[in-house]
Amino acid sequence: MSSQLHVFKFGGASVKDAAAVRNVAHIIQHYQQGPLVVVISAMGKTTNALEMIHEKRFQGEDYAQPLQTILAFHTAIADDLLLTAADMQGFDQQWESLQTVLASPIAGSYDQAYDQIVSYGELLSTALVHGYLTASGIGSTWLDVRRLICTDARHRDARVDWELSSSRAAAIAQSMEPNSIFIVQGFIGSTAQGLTTTLGREGSDFTAAIMAFLFDAATVTIWKDVPGMLNADPKWFDNTVKLDSISFREAIELAYYGASVIHPKTIKPLQNKGIPLYIKSFIHPEEAGSIIQENTSSDHLVPSYIFKGNQDLVSFIPKDFSFIVEDNLREIFGTLSEIGIRVNLMENSAISFSICIDTDTYKRGLLFEAMRGHYAIRYNEGLTLITVRHWDDQTLAQLTAGRDVLLEQKSRQTVRMVVR
Ligand code: ASP
Ligand code: MG
Repeated sequence: MSSQLHVFKFGGASVKDAAAVRNVAHIIQHYQQGPLVVVISAMGKTTNALEMIHEKRFQGEDYAQPLQTILAFHTAIADDLLLTAADMQGFDQQWESLQTVLASPIAGSYDQAYDQIVSYGELLSTALVHGYLTASGIGSTWLDVRRLICTDARHRDARVDWELSSSRAAAIAQSMEPNSIFIVQGFIGSTAQGLTTTLGREGSDFTAAIMAFLFDAATVTIWKDVPGMLNADPKWFDNTVKLDSISFREAIELAYYGASVIHPKTIKPLQNKGIPLYIKSFIHPEEAGSIIQENTSSDHLVPSYIFKGNQDLVSFIPKDFSFIVEDNLREIFGTLSEIGIRVNLMENSAISFSICIDTDTYKRGLLFEAMRGHYAIRYNEGLTLITVRHWDDQTLAQLTAGRDVLLEQKSRQTVRMVVR
């Protein structure tokens, strides 16, 4: 196999309508250089629609209408692309297979049943795009990525079995020619027993990194509707700046703090093999975009801002006024881990321990229920967690003007504040 294999990833927005799909074909055709693995997400908001269908099915409610809407959405795109019945064979197969799954009795847990349904977003989108590529004279192979990515059975958040997946990839790599194009689904995998799993919402970026790792790719490119990795979400900020080049280390920090441009799990497999990641605009594919690689020399040039809304700040105060010590922390973290609450920020003082968590009233209720015996609990909701990398005094003053800062942590590189 050539070592010059590349991986492209197209998200839901880049296949949301016929014009977008044509653009994907154009990019594949113009920017292919060597064997190419193309990872594609579900079209538009299909994953959300399938989640709703799963929910209704699980509750025993009728879902005929939303299911029809999904079919109509895909069919309209296919019609717009002038696809024939022959071009749509792969799609029709997936659609029928989904009907079979829906018609059979629900097996296993809620999460297991979720994966069996929601995975069809990617199976349908890749089948449709493959049909269009074929119709356009671009030769490609549709590959069921579940044959490649082997995971454990932790449904909706499955962990990859790298060893087994690598040996499966090796067999497929044998068949790759310099001009091969493989179309694969993002987001999904399968257990060793062949049960479909998913890698967590927005997991297609991670799939691209897995493909790159398994096939020893030369590069990965994530094609997006933004010009590259920005120093802030344009939703929150007027004057965003593109980060031309940042290190793996910096990218993993930003993703951890909540930068939404790439899925947090994406960086590790790429860093492990030194595979650079490009983030480029599918609207202006000729532009340079951003590159994420080993080199740290540009990391400090621009401050980055990450805003996480819908935060709660919760404080635990031992009822008997004893100090917060390791035993308390073990108790608190044991409970958090059991309920599955992620801590975004924490701080302790003599007799109180505070955590900043995503608002989830159900999980919060479980937490309070479990802790109420030993602790007095205080909390604030409706907060925002702001993280600034490479901060300076001036930007901090601007950010905090007119806001109530409930908690602040500063290190040399990073400031984190919980504000109202
Ligand atoms: N389609 C999946 C989702 O919307 C995966 C992805 O888009 O990355 O979460
Ligand atoms: Mg998506």
